[in-house]
Amino acid sequence: KKKIAIMTSGGDAPGMNATVRACVRMAIHMGCDAYCVYEGYDGLVRGGDLIRRMEWHDVRGWLSEGGTLIGTARCMAFFERAGRLKAAKNMILNGIDALIICGGDGSLTGADRFRSEWPELLEELISTGQLKKEQVNQYRHLNIVGLVGSIDNDLSGTDATIGCYSALARICYAVDLIEATASSHSRAFVVEVMGRHCGWLALMAGVATGADFIFIPEKPREDNWREEMCGIIHEHRKRGKRKTIVIIAEGALDRQGNKITPEMVKDLLADKNGLALDTRITTLGHVQRGGTAVAYDRMLATLQGVEAVKAVLEATPETPTCFIAVTENKITRKPLMEAVKDTKEVAKAIERQDFELAMSLRDAE
Ligand code: ATP
Repeated sequence: KKKIAIMTSGGDAPGMNATVRACVRMAIHMGCDAYCVYEGYDGLVRGGDLIRRMEWHDVRGWLSEGGTLIGTARCMAFFERAGRLKAAKNMILNGIDALIICGGDGSLTGADRFRSEWPELLEELISTGQLKKEQVNQYRHLNIVGLVGSIDNDLSGTDATIGCYSALARICYAVDLIEATASSHSRAFVVEVMGRHCGWLALMAGVATGADFIFIPEKPREDNWREEMCGIIHEHRKRGKRKTIVIIAEGALDRQGNKITPEMVKDLLADKNGLALDTRITTLGHVQRGGTAVAYDRMLATLQGVEAVKAVLEATPETPTCFIAVTENKITRKPLMEAVKDTKEVAKAIERQDFELAMSLRDAE
């Protein structure tokens, strides 16, 4: 009987629980034993009760739940070969022959490293007397499948990562709330959203809320960004708009590579010699990661979880290790390293649609 383990790793994202639920139940449905590795790679390295057999009912109610109920962690030990050796040993001792990992680019990179090193790790476990040859024989090939769970939507190999639409919905909801005060008091709000390297959330929130101006890492602002922003906002105000919303990603930059901070934007909007707007900063922070998963994430997680288990069961030693993507609305398998190779490229969305035009539709609404 095949034993399939699922784990979540890296930053938590809504929909991770739905992923775990789908993988556990699909594995059981296909006649396999399902396991969960708790606390990300830490669980693999430490073993013991962090690797647990799961039954159908163990994941009851997990479909909508935010965060990840099996825990996640940044695991330093897994960066070291010694840590990965312990992880390999724990997998074999538990009889696990396949691993499904839901995480971001770091987690998938770690998974690929683990897979490529696997034969050497087995040899080392045998040569150092930690395991006998007969014990490892049936585990000669490590079967790994990746699922992309991250609120940032920062991987170019897939249209949507599990969690990104929940975070986007949360941001839009927060901006809607902020707008009530902005409008009432005729104020400006600078809303900082997550995205150190990827501005997908800021860009989409800008379009979805009709924000006056946005800053994203992929489109460093020209030297004249101050005049540009103030000009647009001035224009909107002149047309009667009582609220001003500027959305700024954490990783916002100018052309020289200098950081543009919410404070800089606020000072500019509040400048007595300029727009002189009563301006506040709102840092949304971890609110963006919390809460239940939106319908799209539940659906994506479930369909991709099903596909991940199918990929595990269909894999042969010759099959390239894959991750599960969604491309033009179709759930597909792609080579694992394709998931991470273009992580920090210009946001894929900007390449495909005319966001300048979409943003220019904003007005005094
Ligand atoms: P997020 O998008 O939320 O940052 P992530 O998966 O990119 O998620 P990381 O913190 O980069 O998050 O990685 C999670 C864990 O994956 C690390 O703590 C580490 O255990 C493992 N990992 C990451 N990169 C590597 C690597 N190059 N080699 C081995 N393990 C790695």
